Amino acid sequence: MGQAKIKLPTTPQGWAIRLSQLVKVFHELHGLDRFPIDVSAVAREFSANVFPDEPITLIEGQAFDKFEGALIPHPAQNGEWGIFYNSALSSKGRINFTLAHELGHYLLHRQLSGEPIYCAKSDMWAWDSDYGLMEAQANEFASFLLMPLDDFRAQISGLDLPNIGAFEFLRKRYEVSLTAAILKWLDITKKRAMIVVSRDGFIDWSWGSKPLFRSGVFFRARQTVIPVPDGSLASGKVTISDPANGTQLAEGVWAERESVYESTIFSEYHDMAISLLIYPDDPPRRLFRFDEEEEEDRPFDTFDQFMRNQ
Ligand SMILES: [Zn+2]
Repeated sequence: MGQAKIKLPTTPQGWAIRLSQLVKVFHELHGLDRFPIDVSAVAREFSANVFPDEPITLIEGQAFDKFEGALIPHPAQNGEWGIFYNSALSSKGRINFTLAHELGHYLLHRQLSGEPIYCAKSDMWAWDSDYGLMEAQANEFASFLLMPLDDFRAQISGLDLPNIGAFEFLRKRYEVSLTAAILKWLDITKKRAMIVVSRDGFIDWSWGSKPLFRSGVFFRARQTVIPVPDGSLASGKVTISDPANGTQLAEGVWAERESVYESTIFSEYHDMAISLLIYPDDPPRRLFRFDEEEEEDRPFDTFDQFMRNQ
């Protein structure tokens, strides 16, 4: 009826750019800080204005057992939608990212089935489309909405050899989780770098930058149980004065033939260690060669096979 005939975005990034431009203009108009982005306000106002027949009218915490968030149509089928986050979440950054993720589902996926979408914690970390295209898209949207690329690039321009402690100001600026800020950086950095999240001495999940992945380094932690190496900060067995500031580890700890710079934070989630690994800019050429005889004698061979691109 009265709806303006504006061309709507179709991609996660397109939606995020559209919304963050509106937020930017609104905040400049009113002399407000652009960040952190108030996802609840954006979700309510944008949906009511652009989709007046399908507004988001309810945003609140729910006592979910195993879900981080959900997008649910109104039970009365009146066109309204609700966005929910797990009320057990204590981190504002995780709540904010969850709300943005669910807003992403609303914009991109609500019409696909009209059914509720429930999201597990692991869904919030899925950036590879193999794992679930819709979850990856919702995360991409959330990341670009909360941390627009222009501002993010300006903020990180001074980071040279980033340690995990250096990401703290980004977490605060954008009110996201530390992992969300690191994943964003990994998505655009030219460095060979990886985040490794471990629990009780085992790798829970990991994600590498494109240059690292292209050089053949990744862990298949979703398919296989992989312990963190004994000599790593993540193991908790190596103590230095400031793990968040990091240290250069010898060859053979994280990578068979590479010295890796590791920095680690232990506290964000219970029993979890979040490590940032920075590999040398140039991968060793040997990494690509497979010599069976040499392999057999290696103490790290089980570990090493997960770092091979095959
Ligand atoms: Zn989801």
